[in-house]
Amino acid sequence: MFRNHWRKSNPNGLKEPGIRTCFVCKSQDRRENLLRFTGRPGRPLCYDAREINPGRGMWIHQDCLQEAFQKRLFYKAAKGTVRISDALAEQMKTLFNITVEADKKTERRPL
Ligand SMILES: [Zn+2]
Repeated sequence: MFRNHWRKSNPNGLKEPGIRTCFVCKSQDRRENLLRFTGRPGRPLCYDAREINPGRGMWIHQDCLQEAFQKRLFYKAAKGTVRISDALAEQMKTLFNITVEADKKTERRPL
């Protein structure tokens, strides 16, 4: 019951195929139940709907999205500051009906 040493025994990937870990709630789930985001420090965060983007993938439940944006957990997951663009904020609103505050690094064009 308490023998959980196997948990960390495969650091280089021999994970069960198709299983990913949500970086918010840390639970494992099948990849089709998770959303993939990509982003590197200093780069815009990107929702990788087709799961084709190169780079560090961050997997998350749709239910965990709001919390991730509120607590800025994407920054932690990407190991640095990833920029949240207006376009991404808009996309999150459209697709998942969650409100995301975009990072205002660039000057906004007047409407
Ligand atoms: Zn989750």
